[in-house]
Amino acid sequence: MIISKIETIRVAQFPDLIFVQVHTDTGLTGLGETWYAASTVESAIHDHFGPLLVGRDPFEIERHWQTMFRLSDHAGYGGAELRAISAIDVALWDIKGQSLNMPIFEIIGGGTRNRIKVYNTLGVYGEIDEAHKVWSDPVEVAKNLLDQGITGMKMSPTDFISRESDGQLLFQDDLDWALRPIREIREKLGMEIDIANDAHGKWNLPNAMRIVRELESMRLMWHEELISPLNEEAHQRLQAVTSTPIAAAERLMTRYQHRRFIESSAARISMPDLTWTGGISEVKKIAVIASAHQKPIAPHDCVGPVNMMACAHIAMATPNVMIMEYNRAMHLGWYRDFIEPDFVIDGGFLMAPTEPGLGTRLKPSVKARPDATVRVSSGKSESWLTSVDRYTYPPKELQSEFVHSTKRRRTGFDASYYN
Ligand SMILES: [Mg+2]
Repeated sequence: MIISKIETIRVAQFPDLIFVQVHTDTGLTGLGETWYAASTVESAIHDHFGPLLVGRDPFEIERHWQTMFRLSDHAGYGGAELRAISAIDVALWDIKGQSLNMPIFEIIGGGTRNRIKVYNTLGVYGEIDEAHKVWSDPVEVAKNLLDQGITGMKMSPTDFISRESDGQLLFQDDLDWALRPIREIREKLGMEIDIANDAHGKWNLPNAMRIVRELESMRLMWHEELISPLNEEAHQRLQAVTSTPIAAAERLMTRYQHRRFIESSAARISMPDLTWTGGISEVKKIAVIASAHQKPIAPHDCVGPVNMMACAHIAMATPNVMIMEYNRAMHLGWYRDFIEPDFVIDGGFLMAPTEPGLGTRLKPSVKARPDATVRVSSGKSESWLTSVDRYTYPPKELQSEFVHSTKRRRTGFDASYYN
């Protein structure tokens, strides 16, 4: 089986959303997805990675990941290239699962559970306006979630009050105003519902320290990105002033950035975004690093339906996943317009996928939408070189002479450097 073409699908309605379909000569198609700056991701896929993958074996996922990563790391990893790698990685796992007639989680370790608890991040879409309603009737929003068996919620009460000073100045009356919904829920419902606080990196360290202190008695699940995770020492200082766990979340990229926060005391919970940080392959590795430090991961969502399916596989096969993010407004509002079958949320749990591969497909109607942009490439490139390799490698004939030389003994391992 070889990869025959790579296809991307975007829709104007959600300009940050992009799906990738990896097609094979056997007719199997794998589905992946990522979110943010979709047209830039589209270029990364068709201009850089697609030509390297066409004609190659889709089963060699680790090899392809490494090749794509090293090419993008040449200019510093992260950004659109890594999101492209993430989407392609999921699509390749989907192909492998379908080909072996097994759900992906059976291939990446097998089931350690058959469902994972979710918490709901408050959202606004269509008929669901819980993220707005929580300001006027927080208890009603919490009760409504509890009625559905969802016992955890995440909100961002301090984002708005950070705006005026860009997080540099915090007044007590503003803080009291912002924390009112959380205090009201605790007053009326006690600890019946768990609450997490996400500040999207909007505060400086002193104000973040003040916010976590102020919320100490509310016994929250975690604080997430009160400061941007640019500096693990700043995170450590924040953690030192509160007993509530500090989570390092979706804007950390790959095992290399997560490792620093996991190994230090900078984060007690890691929250990788699978569609940003390197796909199924990379989140599995991040989870393994966390497991060696006996810490949990809690995968991120609010990005798209394929991410939820991919995270379901990670959650089933990975013992140290503690909980999964879920956005009820996005799921019921638009996720289901794009994939079939849908992932299953039942009584506050995300259920194990049952179908081979990823367990879902892009609805055929998506490509037919009038606002869809579909781009297909089937050209291939034999070059796996970074641009600098073209200048540092010797001329072709010398390369060939070197590779095929019978005079090279390929011995002389020097153990003294391995002390
Ligand atoms: Mg977040």
